[in-house]
Amino acid sequence: MSIEADFAIINANELVTLKGSSNKPRVKEYMREIGIIHDGAVAVKDGKIVAVGPTREVLGKLEKGFESIDASGKLVTPGLIDPHVHLIFAGSRAHELEQMSAEGVPYLEIKERGGGMPTTLKQTAEMSTQDTIRKTARILDTMLIHGTTTIEAKSGYEMTFEGELRQLEIIQTLHKIHPIDLVSTFCAQGITPEYETRKDELTDDIVDRWIPEIGKRKLAEYADAFCEKGYFNLDQSKRMLEAGRKHGMKLRIHADWLVHSGGAKLGAELGVISADHLIFTPKADIKALVKSGTVGVFLPTSPFCYVGRYAKAREIIDAGLPVALATDVSAANWCESMQMMQALAILRMKMTAAEALTAATINAAHSIERAHEIGSLEVGKVADIVIFDALDHRYFAYHYGINLAEKVFKNGRLVAQQGRRTP
Ligand SMILES: [Zn+2]
Repeated sequence: MSIEADFAIINANELVTLKGSSNKPRVKEYMREIGIIHDGAVAVKDGKIVAVGPTREVLGKLEKGFESIDASGKLVTPGLIDPHVHLIFAGSRAHELEQMSAEGVPYLEIKERGGGMPTTLKQTAEMSTQDTIRKTARILDTMLIHGTTTIEAKSGYEMTFEGELRQLEIIQTLHKIHPIDLVSTFCAQGITPEYETRKDELTDDIVDRWIPEIGKRKLAEYADAFCEKGYFNLDQSKRMLEAGRKHGMKLRIHADWLVHSGGAKLGAELGVISADHLIFTPKADIKALVKSGTVGVFLPTSPFCYVGRYAKAREIIDAGLPVALATDVSAANWCESMQMMQALAILRMKMTAAEALTAATINAAHSIERAHEIGSLEVGKVADIVIFDALDHRYFAYHYGINLAEKVFKNGRLVAQQGRRTP
């Protein structure tokens, strides 16, 4: 039987399929089995994958008339997925990183000195919607040229009723106008100065007014909360997340980032889809997350930039928690590259290159409940595919800090090439 294709990527030195785990995320040693095909090929028709396998086999199945794209000496993977992004913000906090890293000023002290999150809340609220869309589209372009084809995008940098609705509307607009798919999350994140000593009141307002409106207008698929020292406590986080669920949202949580806040344990009790950071999470709470079927999301940038301590990836993977990686792009530290996240996971968190790639693809897809469509190269899946100028998947940690993505396909369309968006 011959198969029609629009194009086929052939002769890949290493084609990583990540096949076989669309129903359940990969855990433990299975995170290291990534379905490598040497001299591999993948064929695409109408935006979907129609054949995957060794080049000779795939070519033998295809009808004539397709375009061949040679990937000799290259790595081919599914489009990378970034499941934790604080997408919409204005202003710069570049000077704070210097204070934190060179002078050793702790993150929360930056806020006490008049900087930090409140400055971003103010500047973001002041930026016009048009400018915000333009600025944010540039971030998405950077993600795309680095091989990221789907992201989760959070609101949370205005933290007023109108401001959060505006942010979620902007996320919806960007989802429509940009090739990257955006999965939207309402994130109760920053606290404006007038509520700094009245967080219970702020929580009441979020629960009684913001979340019902967001739910009614179907502006967010997920609700997320900063359950963290200096932000929302356990009780406040729980109330907001329960309200999110009541109004049609599924749940995510920021947990144990700066201290052991108990966020992971709360997340397990609530059955969150993802629990993110997990830097100070004790073993017992990791076990609870395993039981609740949650995906753990590691965010190596803030440890790299200023927290200094990383999640205990080895212990957490060995405990059986499926893990994903994300950039945590935010106003505090800002790197769009999921290639770089893999480098940090390998070089700083003791993950293997295969585990890191699993975490950046199929497990990331599970953490946003999209694994039936994306995250692996399998027949029937969406043709989100990246050709990297790399011999194999270990290059993310070997030749790092630069962009290895040579061609990026989204829904079977070439959207970026040689570091530039294609028209
Ligand atoms: Zn975050």
